[in-house]
Amino acid sequence: MSIQVEQVTKEYGTQKALNNISFSIGKGEIVGFLGPNGAGKSTMMKIITCYLPQTQGKVAVCGFDVEEDPLKVKAKLGYLPEHNPQYLEMYIKEYLEFVGGIYKIKNIKARVQELIDLVGLQKEQHKKIGALSKGYRQRVGLAQAMIHDPEVLILDEPTTGLDPNQIIEIRELIKSVGKEKTVMMSTHIMQEVEAICDRVIIINNGELVADKPTSELKNAANQTQQVRVVFGGGISKNQLKQIDGVKRAEQENDAWIVESDAKEDLREAIFKFAVANQLVILEMNRNLYDLEQVFQQLTKS
Ligand code: ADP
Ligand code: MG
Repeated sequence: MSIQVEQVTKEYGTQKALNNISFSIGKGEIVGFLGPNGAGKSTMMKIITCYLPQTQGKVAVCGFDVEEDPLKVKAKLGYLPEHNPQYLEMYIKEYLEFVGGIYKIKNIKARVQELIDLVGLQKEQHKKIGALSKGYRQRVGLAQAMIHDPEVLILDEPTTGLDPNQIIEIRELIKSVGKEKTVMMSTHIMQEVEAICDRVIIINNGELVADKPTSELKNAANQTQQVRVVFGGGISKNQLKQIDGVKRAEQENDAWIVESDAKEDLREAIFKFAVANQLVILEMNRNLYDLEQVFQQLTKS
């Protein structure tokens, strides 16, 4: 196991930030660690990376206990903290060489160059960190986390605060480094998990509420069927509710979002209804799943 968390509780004074959390992450997995703000994600990651002691429970990384063998744990993992603290006055290479020095990496100049190529910092490599956009600073953060070629990467909200293009670039980068490493990344974006992760662990208010392969979570979402349909003429909610299987109907701009509770596909019934009522259908598509909704259900307080 790359990461083993057993019955971990963390209290900040009287506040319980984590309550009896257990999970494990196998070698090579890419796991999304999800939860709303304040759920305890960063706290859990700080415990795994030896930055904070837990109040109770056990945590091991690649078999090494975080309390008994913190140096061995740190050698096995790379960490990109949430507020990626970087020395803005330092040059990228200078900073990476400095971090490499802490890990006593041999041939550091060559290693830094390798990382600059890997994370896509070639064009920016002569700049100071303070002169970089947030997306490029995240790349520096990733390079820093990977400098000692760790087996495990802990990434705390690596895409938060980036623009849509940067988000896609960083996701691609994580996916590609994830081919060779165990990755645990926190996010509050469900689509991100869908795009990158094999498995999802969801916490809410310090409690573990789900631990499932991403595909299974999607199936759970598919308990409800949703069809988005645009009719050519006017139609009322009551009319729509008369269609076989329809439980809910809500208007959204010029479209209707029609839902059933069962797994049945409503499209055929809607089509027949339109024909019988001489209505024209301009658009119709099925929303196969909505992971965002599952996340909301699991984490509503
Ligand atoms: P997340 O990363 O999921 O947003 P955090 O782990 O940062 O959540 O925080 C979980 C809870 O613990 C929050 O209620 C937060 O206010 C509290 N907390 C986090 N760090 C500290 C700290 N150093 N001292 C006191 N409370 C903290
Ligand atoms: Mg956090």
